[in-house]
Amino acid sequence: MKSIFTIDIEDWFHILDLDSAPELRQWDRLPSRVEGNFRKLLDIFDEMGVRVTCFFLGWVAERFPNLVKDAAGRGHETASHGYSHALVYRMSEDEFLDDAVKSRKIIEDITGEPVRGYRAAGFSATEDTPWFFEKLIEAGYSYDSSVFPASRGHGGMDIDHYAPHLVKCGAGELVEIPLTVIDVIGRPHCFFGGGYLRLYPYFLIRKMALKVLDEHRPVVFYVHPREVDPDQPRLSMNMKRRFKTYVNLKTTEDKIRKILRDFDVTTCASYINENVGVFREVCAEEEYVGAV
Ligand SMILES: [Zn+2]
Repeated sequence: MKSIFTIDIEDWFHILDLDSAPELRQWDRLPSRVEGNFRKLLDIFDEMGVRVTCFFLGWVAERFPNLVKDAAGRGHETASHGYSHALVYRMSEDEFLDDAVKSRKIIEDITGEPVRGYRAAGFSATEDTPWFFEKLIEAGYSYDSSVFPASRGHGGMDIDHYAPHLVKCGAGELVEIPLTVIDVIGRPHCFFGGGYLRLYPYFLIRKMALKVLDEHRPVVFYVHPREVDPDQPRLSMNMKRRFKTYVNLKTTEDKIRKILRDFDVTTCASYINENVGVFREVCAEEEYVGAV
């Protein structure tokens, strides 16, 4: 069974919910590191012969269109991580719609190819944003990968649909590819991306990923370019946050290579194309909005 490998392409300073994190109007003045880090990842994917889904932050795509072209040219799927990296639950419905449309158009203008997929900053689609799927369909997307079925700092939703599924709502339908969790002592837990992937040893990540595949679900892996950059500048934050944000940066590259060696991965779009006939249908109004 195939799994899915994804990257959220943003820079070292796109850290959420932190007083010391720079605001959008300051981003242009900061030294960017996303080009080198993203190309390092693209080279690993070439070396391992895999294609992945690249969720580009619209702000990054606008400044580095060659990165988007390069990803598309090497056969990867280009998708959207929104424009301004704002948390969904901090935006109004209209602000969210504008942000999601803007990033999609920027990326489509660069590649000339339609963008199908969206991933929210910080996986911040929650029960406080019941309009999320409706607005995403309105913004021209056909799938989403923002639902995190466990509690976390930003977002997280208490739902039991761990596998990819079809969400039906008033505006139409859309495929949801939730981030992968697995129940450990009765509670959902993630081992497969970001700080979780950096924190846990590879043998445990592999063991848990094999368990997920045994449940006939794909593992959705996710990384950020800054996670292969041990020399990135550090933002000031409390000790707990600092640990989560910067732990084991030196191990990420090696773990990515091992994942790509041990697991058969593909893009979100290819996974959907091959499996959409078997997705379970979920009614958004009944199962997401009432999911507290
Ligand atoms: Zn992000």
